[in-house]
Amino acid sequence: MSLKIDMHTHIIPKELPDWSARFGYGTFIHLDHHRPGYARMMQGDKFFREIESNCWDEILRIDEYAQYHTQVQVVCTIPVLFSYWAKPQDGLTISRYLNDHIAEVVRNHPKHYIGLGTIPMQDTDLAIKELERCKTIGMKGIQIGSNVNQKNLSESEFNPIWAAIEALDMAVLVHPWEMMGQDDMKKYWLPWLVGMPAETARAMCSLIFGGVMERHPNIRFNFAHAGGSFIPTIGRIEHGFHCRPDLVAIDNPVNPREYIGKFWVDSATHDDELFKYVLAQQGSKKITLGTDYPFPLGDLEVGKFIEEMGLEKSIVDDIFCHSTLEWLKMDISELMI
Ligand SMILES: [Zn+2]
Repeated sequence: MSLKIDMHTHIIPKELPDWSARFGYGTFIHLDHHRPGYARMMQGDKFFREIESNCWDEILRIDEYAQYHTQVQVVCTIPVLFSYWAKPQDGLTISRYLNDHIAEVVRNHPKHYIGLGTIPMQDTDLAIKELERCKTIGMKGIQIGSNVNQKNLSESEFNPIWAAIEALDMAVLVHPWEMMGQDDMKKYWLPWLVGMPAETARAMCSLIFGGVMERHPNIRFNFAHAGGSFIPTIGRIEHGFHCRPDLVAIDNPVNPREYIGKFWVDSATHDDELFKYVLAQQGSKKITLGTDYPFPLGDLEVGKFIEEMGLEKSIVDDIFCHSTLEWLKMDISELMI
């Protein structure tokens, strides 16, 4: 069995400080361990989500992954903890706490975990400072949200961050969060089912049309949930680029379709036919096994649907292993036991 790496998983420290009390404002996430093995994630007094011990127990996670013949997990925080809305110094404090925890998990189990950090995107200088520190504590990349307080990733204030990411040679996972329109569609879990795929497409279009990918061709972007609705709607996006260049092509004259296959996307489509389409567009070297473990919308059988599709072994090996190693610029020998 060759190495299998899941590059999209979330982890949280078992204990979080009471940041609302410490900072004196806000509804920062804290954990209520109300019964063994379970905790309520609380936003101030408001219930956000119940999580289980596989969200924080690094040993349990390794055991659960062994059931699916998966040795390595790339771990990052849960997007609700990005806290981009916090005062910059407080955002930095939270980022440092979460990053130090992930670095420790990786140090404890270097053959099982690879870390992605979080940075306070609400302050460019502090974000770069923490990005640099992430590099020194062993992070292979960072995870960022699809928007920053509803600002798109094309905004010029982020330009120094892109330059720093490229200079430091860090990988980037773009993850949907703070979904557009979520206050207008609270029922039926629509922010997760409708908002998240749209958020990822919003981020991708912003990075392409804003010229970020054009100016920084060496940044290794990976987009969650197979790129959300971007790849399924690329025909419409390209058509818009051609028919209304006065609206679309104002900052970058390059056809958006040309960027497909230059970034990575994870494999979480939950659908064989869509997976085949994404594979045809991206190629196997630009799709990485990613599950969103341990959350219920994730591919919690860790790529079993891909194993059962009858794909060539070399394609599956790319998706399960080699693509992630290339995205993270790692050598397989760093992970072999
Ligand atoms: Zn996720």
